[in-house]
Amino acid sequence: MQIQTILNRVEKQKGFVYSKASFNKKGELEIEVRPRSNSRAICSGCGKKGSTYDHSSVRQFQFVPLWGIAVFLVYSMRRVNCKECGVTTERVPWACGKNQHTYSFRLFLATWAKRMSWKETATVFSTSWDSVYRAVQWVVHWGIAHRELSGIESIGIDEIQHRRGHHYLTLVYQLDQGYKRLLCVRKERTEASLSSFFNLLDADAIKGIKYACTDMWQA
Ligand SMILES: [Zn+2]
Repeated sequence: MQIQTILNRVEKQKGFVYSKASFNKKGELEIEVRPRSNSRAICSGCGKKGSTYDHSSVRQFQFVPLWGIAVFLVYSMRRVNCKECGVTTERVPWACGKNQHTYSFRLFLATWAKRMSWKETATVFSTSWDSVYRAVQWVVHWGIAHRELSGIESIGIDEIQHRRGHHYLTLVYQLDQGYKRLLCVRKERTEASLSSFFNLLDADAIKGIKYACTDMWQA
């Protein structure tokens, strides 16, 4: 079986094909990506298709490692002649903007960063602590933007001490059967910290809460 077959199985890129695969001088696996013939580039500004203006220099996008070998997608971004935005760089499905990591690699790092320290994650997968941090940040932002807060019946409120001295965080969890998740983290353990959680909910969601489990802290 060829590496392209595996890549198409795990992550097909609409409008693009995986082409030649080879090892570079560093022993990393590079897989060339090229646009499917007759496919038009998508403008990163407005998302509409446009004609190709020119090509930028070849770039590497780090992908999920295979058998411990670092894997990079290699692609020369097209610049699009967009009727609305002028000349822009195209939008590609595997990475955003100038980010040199693919979405898959960022998700991969963030997933491992739940099990190991960020430093360890960076060392094991030959990347920087900063990259792990940014991957986690990206996943958290995605989660917050797509957070579904309706239908919550039971919540748990807890506080944890962080850093030295009396610094606290207020944590709110959903504790419904089959749905145990952290909903919100707020600084301090004041009434205002907790109120700001309820500000995230609409009136129906607040009415839907039947049970709250918390400790003795007054706020
Ligand atoms: Zn555009």
